[in-house]
Amino acid sequence: MQRIALLLLLVTASLFSQSKTDLSYYLPQDVTYDSNIPTPKSIVGHEVGEWHITHDKLVQYMHALAKASDRITIEDRGKTFEDRPLLLLKITSLENHKNLDAIQAAHVQATETNTSDISERPIVVYQGFSIHGNEPSGSNAALVAAYYLAAAQGPKIDDLLKNTVILFDPSFNPDGLQRFAYWANTNRGMNLNADPNDREYSEVWPGGRTNHYWFDMNRDWLPVQLPESRARIETFHNWMPNILTDHHEMGTNASFFFQPGIPSRTHPLTPKMNQELTKGIAEYHAKAFDKIGSLYYSEESFDDFYYGKGSTFPDINGSIGILFEQASSRGHIQESDNGILTFPFTIRNQFTAVLSTLEAANGMRNTILEYQQDFFKNARNEAAKSGNKAIVFGDEKDAAKTYHLAEILNRHRIKFHDIKRDFSVNGKNYKKGYSYIVPKNQKNTRLINAMFEKRTTFQDSLFYDISAWTFPLAFNLDYTETTTANAGDEVKDLKPQNGGVASKSEYAYLFEWHEYYAPKLLNKILKKGLRAKVSMKTFKANGKSYDYGTILIPAKNQKISTSEIYTFLNDLAQDSHIKIDAVSTGLNDGIDLGSRNFRALELPKIALLVGDGMTSYDAGEIWHLLDTRYDIIATKLDTKRFSRADLSRYNTIIMVNSSSGLNENNTKKLKSWIQNGGTLVAYRNALRWLNSKELMKIDFKKNDLTAKNITYEQRGDFRGAQVIGGAIFETKIDRSHPINFGYKNDKLPMFRNTTLFIKPDKNSYNNPIQYTKNPLLSGYISEENLDSLSLSIPLKIGGIGRGNIVAFTDNTNFRAFWYGTNRLLMNAIFFRDEM
Ligand SMILES: [Zn+2]
Repeated sequence: MQRIALLLLLVTASLFSQSKTDLSYYLPQDVTYDSNIPTPKSIVGHEVGEWHITHDKLVQYMHALAKASDRITIEDRGKTFEDRPLLLLKITSLENHKNLDAIQAAHVQATETNTSDISERPIVVYQGFSIHGNEPSGSNAALVAAYYLAAAQGPKIDDLLKNTVILFDPSFNPDGLQRFAYWANTNRGMNLNADPNDREYSEVWPGGRTNHYWFDMNRDWLPVQLPESRARIETFHNWMPNILTDHHEMGTNASFFFQPGIPSRTHPLTPKMNQELTKGIAEYHAKAFDKIGSLYYSEESFDDFYYGKGSTFPDINGSIGILFEQASSRGHIQESDNGILTFPFTIRNQFTAVLSTLEAANGMRNTILEYQQDFFKNARNEAAKSGNKAIVFGDEKDAAKTYHLAEILNRHRIKFHDIKRDFSVNGKNYKKGYSYIVPKNQKNTRLINAMFEKRTTFQDSLFYDISAWTFPLAFNLDYTETTTANAGDEVKDLKPQNGGVASKSEYAYLFEWHEYYAPKLLNKILKKGLRAKVSMKTFKANGKSYDYGTILIPAKNQKISTSEIYTFLNDLAQDSHIKIDAVSTGLNDGIDLGSRNFRALELPKIALLVGDGMTSYDAGEIWHLLDTRYDIIATKLDTKRFSRADLSRYNTIIMVNSSSGLNENNTKKLKSWIQNGGTLVAYRNALRWLNSKELMKIDFKKNDLTAKNITYEQRGDFRGAQVIGGAIFETKIDRSHPINFGYKNDKLPMFRNTTLFIKPDKNSYNNPIQYTKNPLLSGYISEENLDSLSLSIPLKIGGIGRGNIVAFTDNTNFRAFWYGTNRLLMNAIFFRDEM
């Protein structure tokens, strides 16, 4: 009896510790392997799947492989925020390597001409892993896949490598992978524990999914705001791959998913053939998974709508993007609906999908190469039909924002021109140096449509992600359809505007608040201890009009000399690309410089609440905004430290989306801090909490919807149709209110993905921002919700004691590309005492 128990224990232990797992568990046995190629274990010190690979060891192995194999070259394409290398391996036959530049040139050339010989051309496959760092089976499978491609011998692999160029990106998200590997490894015992309650399976905030600033990088393929995406997008456009794969993980109780996703949710700009080919490729996956006995599904979830995702971005660029989702063991082993789910099992599935993709690419090579060629042929025809049509965009008061949108076009190889001369359309002025013209007749015309179009009707009412991302709206830039008649030279060398101080003054300096980097400049001025004021009214000085929010820096009675001020401001102005005016008199047309309508400003001292209860994406966006764009240091104040923290160090506290808010004691503490003069800026669901704790009385509109003629089966779709996944709406703004300083138009597009609708105040001056009567600009919203949104307000400002609360129903800093509404947060921070 004892012996049986012991035996059982041994069997269980060996099953759970997987001490027996070696490479043969993963590798096909129908080929032999070159013994000169180092195995992962020989370099990283452990078997694949035994521990979670850290990024530094992954890098070490990829370099070792590249050194040992003449099928692999390795390229370092830059660095993450944490200075980790962004590697790319190029894997193909030795013969192809000898002509790789020519192969690449011919491949790209085929997207630009109508005739190209397909028969001799290799297909290009871009395979990338674990863009979500805590979905680690992808990057761990990359070890096996790279080994296989380097070491496998025989006619099958020779044929594959002859016909394929593989762009192999072992880790889409190095910083996240490292963070997660640390978590999973430090919590692993010698005896693996499959209990889902174990600490190993619940990461601490913010987890390893995101990058350094807590961004979901699988939303950044179109906006390209993060260094990791920049490297990827450059590789993409340099190579124009035919297939791009994106290896993810999903919930532990799921199985394995491969695309196509839900057919009715494919973006209408994606050609039908794209999805048919995806289906064709899926047959290869199905066959491979049948063979190893793994469960899988397709077409029932996920979609190809938002082009900012890795599996959808390729679809508007003549390529085929494919999403893989493996049920996650998260740590090393976990109980699941499908039995014990081991980490090696998840790795083997991903590796299987790597090989089935390559087999499909080789098997369908001609068809897929032809598809890409046709895609661009058709796009060229569409482009030619658009004749001299073009889009002009710009902001006569903000060169930096205009520059940053142009920068995105550059990253996507979209051509644009300077304008020949200043001109006006529909009451908007397009100024040279502050606007660009994008001709539609060019190679990436479909991508231009996908970035600039406004879409308000949809086949389906459910979306996996946002339903709108219209770039000029997100940037709050003026734009319109025009012709190339006003186009000047093509911009080949995009540069930001030069800043500087016009001349030295003994009296005062002025700059308007419209430029994107004005907050960066003001913060440095205040940090230096210089006095600066903000204008509450418009005025004219030296014949020039100055808008609300103009910043005044007196030259005298400062702690440094007038010469030092001049030099200091000139350096800052250059650094922030802003032009500062010098004035020699305080006498103006309108308010004078000594007027009480110039209000003294205070240096912001900011705490950003982070940690449990706060949404890490939203917090990360603000951290990234303040740190990387404005050089403003904010303290990341963890909610678990809140009760001990001395809040008098701060004059501004930011609370991002939070459903839980703070506990009773912390709420009291925050309230008394506000009463003593602090400003709380709160977002999204934090507003419900503010209301429930009576920190702010908010009159929410209720939208009670009852299901009529909806079956049990339809209930999910019925509810889903009431979700605002992310769309763009028009607001009317009161430009004289400090929250709106720096906006030149009286309309402002805003992003929304909540269903929080606030009734407007009965006094109109308390509604500085209000949705218009028919506010939908772009994206999906149900009729019921649109009704509720109409004339509601996205912002409420309220006072408690000497302090105040600035509350937004929605995120104004969405995913680093909503440049247009970043200003609202900056105004809340810098002009907090004026509202
Ligand atoms: Zn994922």
